[in-house]
Amino acid sequence: MKIVRSSKCSLKYATANKKKELQTILTEYGRVCNIFIEHFWNNGTPSKSKLLKDIVDIPQDTWLSARLRKVAAREAIDMIKATQERWKNKPNKMKMPVHKAKRMYVSCTIADLIESKKSNEFDAWLHLASIGDRKILELPIKYHKHFNKYKEIGKRLNSYIITENYVQFSFEIETGAKREGTKAIGIDTGINALASLSNRSQIGTDIKFCIERIKRCKKGSVGSRRAIRALKQRIDESVQEIIKLDPDLIVVEKLKNLNKNTKLKRRLSKNIRRSIGIWNWKYWLERLEQACQLNRVKFRTVAPFYTSTTCPVCGATDRMNRVGERFKCLKCNHEDNADLNAALNILKRFITGPYGAGYKLENLAFQNVQV
Ligand SMILES: [Zn+2]
Repeated sequence: MKIVRSSKCSLKYATANKKKELQTILTEYGRVCNIFIEHFWNNGTPSKSKLLKDIVDIPQDTWLSARLRKVAAREAIDMIKATQERWKNKPNKMKMPVHKAKRMYVSCTIADLIESKKSNEFDAWLHLASIGDRKILELPIKYHKHFNKYKEIGKRLNSYIITENYVQFSFEIETGAKREGTKAIGIDTGINALASLSNRSQIGTDIKFCIERIKRCKKGSVGSRRAIRALKQRIDESVQEIIKLDPDLIVVEKLKNLNKNTKLKRRLSKNIRRSIGIWNWKYWLERLEQACQLNRVKFRTVAPFYTSTTCPVCGATDRMNRVGERFKCLKCNHEDNADLNAALNILKRFITGPYGAGYKLENLAFQNVQV
């Protein structure tokens, strides 16, 4: 399977002059992008393959090259399409998007990464040409661990996201076929442990402290940013701990439709209040899924209903089965830690479902669980 991964390199090594020049380009690029957006918004979006001279020449008072204007026109089309998609159910609330002049997506028509030959220099230079007004910009790039890892296992693509602070590179990685084994792990996400696993272990049991630390900090402060970074790092470490268990399949609860005011949202929000917060949850699931892709582990989701209140032994579902951190079945008296119980139900839901054939419930602490 082919996957695309990205890695950011800081522009902190660029001189003040270069940064200023880059800022000028970004500002003009954003302005031109907005001219295109307004035009396409009022006159309809053209197809990307039909961006001929008459369209590219619409912004008349700019020094941007035709090439970069074309890039801006493409981005304008993408932004309008994304807005239309987002508001397709409420078109009367839709507003024209605005490019904030903070980033540009460029490809080989504008940018090229040139590896540095001298050893005492930076690792490479991002060479920007055909910008317009005879401008040429060379930005110093220093590789780092993350970048080098992708560089080694993947192929670097000729597309770049440039902001005033960093350049984002993309890599295409061929991971090979998914693993064929049957070792399956169900994972419940929570606040007492970030991950409670169906193999009876818990990972990230300090996640509550990381989240409380963020809550104590003033929003947007240095301390708050530091605390958020620490939380993300803890989540990333937890992902790696799970991958080290060498699973063939990971099953989690599906997190979806949160933009709509549905029954599901109400039911989920109750769980989330008891959990780690929606953004952290999203970040965690994304990182977990990405790590699974990279390591050829299958990643599946199941519907999130009643996983914390169902008894895996007798199958009874009762809201009263769960009291705080304890699970106790009112019907058969089966007792367990509530989060570990949920992890087991998540895995069981997948295995007994239409795609679960061939997987085993492994490493269970109790034998009387019937699938
Ligand atoms: Zn029971």
